[in-house]
Amino acid sequence: MNRRKDSDDALLPRSAIVLGAGVVGVATAYALAIRGVAVTIIDRAEIAGSGASFANGAQLSYIYTDALASNSLLKRLPFLALGLDPAFRLRPSLDPSQIAWFMRFIRNCTRQRFLENSLEGLQLGLESQLAMRALLQKHELEFGHQSAGKMLVYDDAAAFKSACDMVSLRQSHGAVQEILTPQEAVNKEGALAERAGRFVGAIYSPQEELGDPHKFCNALLSQLVTAYGVQVRMATDVARWKADKDMAVVFTKTGEAITADQLMICTGIDATNLLKKHGLGTSLMPMKGYSFTAAPGQVSPIMSITDVSRKIVFCPLNGMIRVAGIAELGARDIAVDPRQLASLVSAASDVLPRAADYAGSYNGWAGIRPMTANALPIIRKLAPRVTINIGHGMLGWTYAMGSAERAAQLLGRV
Ligand SMILES: Cc1cc2nc3c(=O)[nH]c(=O)nc-3n(C[C@H](O)[C@H](O)[C@H](O)COP(=O)(O)OP(=O)(O)OC[C@H]3O[C@@H](n4cnc5c(N)ncnc54)[C@H](O)[C@@H]3O)c2cc1C
Repeated sequence: MNRRKDSDDALLPRSAIVLGAGVVGVATAYALAIRGVAVTIIDRAEIAGSGASFANGAQLSYIYTDALASNSLLKRLPFLALGLDPAFRLRPSLDPSQIAWFMRFIRNCTRQRFLENSLEGLQLGLESQLAMRALLQKHELEFGHQSAGKMLVYDDAAAFKSACDMVSLRQSHGAVQEILTPQEAVNKEGALAERAGRFVGAIYSPQEELGDPHKFCNALLSQLVTAYGVQVRMATDVARWKADKDMAVVFTKTGEAITADQLMICTGIDATNLLKKHGLGTSLMPMKGYSFTAAPGQVSPIMSITDVSRKIVFCPLNGMIRVAGIAELGARDIAVDPRQLASLVSAASDVLPRAADYAGSYNGWAGIRPMTANALPIIRKLAPRVTINIGHGMLGWTYAMGSAERAAQLLGRV
């Protein structure tokens, strides 16, 4: 176990409960454990990384951090509300908390807010990349991690033009990106030859990485146990918590009370239930998405590819191809709707017909992105003994390591 420096003793809590063992919770447990905090990580699932972190798009998208709320999305809202985009649906509701969230979302749909939110995301993305590098220098973890780069492919000239404007802005904030003609894109990623003549340009980000979030959660968790003495309580459903100036307590559904100096809430979309009483019940909106993982096809990609207009990502992962997409804003159930999954498979096979073995068997999955209105996570102290690290939306895997560092840095004083 890491020994804490004497100078830190007065500042850091001695013990912490990390509630939630998804990518955010496990990363947060690591950020505390390396500071010498005695961590207990608790999750209701049997296995870590079983929530939104299970089979997401696998992109460590440190550079492409564009916020969802934008002026261009605002113009398309009536079209989306009518269900005319198969990749992006709104599930309107009269629930006051959803209406409140949606009003904040609309306020973020200006050009200025879009730029601010996207660049703030880029900053967190770059911090996450550094934190991931530091972790991997210290510990060997097997999760199919690759620095493969990412290609964003555009078939709409206007969308490509505004994406090119963002490139110079990102470059001025430390990102490496190249604007490519279709031929240049095909030269870098042969799988795009399938799309020749069907796209107007691409943006290549060599710094982007990928990896399996579920494997990451479990590989890091076992490292936390063996190298840092972290206690793990899986299959432990927490019903409520309370905190005073001396300690934090969580109460499980079976009536057990577990105490620590600090509670870190990292419960993804379920944070809304635990935080309702604290004025944060409207902070998150569920956004359902789908993925499938199939055997590679004859012309499978060597890097991540995002088809921007169809909002589909392709990713080579552990010898397979992971494809993810579909955004249903307001949908909370995690059941796989076979029609939605089939529509993702069909759209993917249209975009890159030989990237995956679409006709063979594949694992379909659905998960919930915990969305904030500005696409930035909420990392803050709720009370002296309670910190929240929630709302990572479309980029929780990307932001997990940097958010964990930020959350741990908040614990300077309890
Ligand atoms: C289709 C899809 C594709 C995506 N693709 C990408 C991508 O390519 N790149 C990227 O960066 N992000 C992606 N995301 C987003 C990313 O998956 C999420 O933002 C991230 O997984 C959220 O992590 P988390 O740890 O906050 O939540 P979760 O992984 O959901 O973890 C929360 C944990 O808390 C536990 N929990 C909740 N309540 C309680 C309770 N009361 N008691 C005990 N335990 C509790 C749950 O069991 C769960 O394990 C995608 C998401 C989806 C759905």
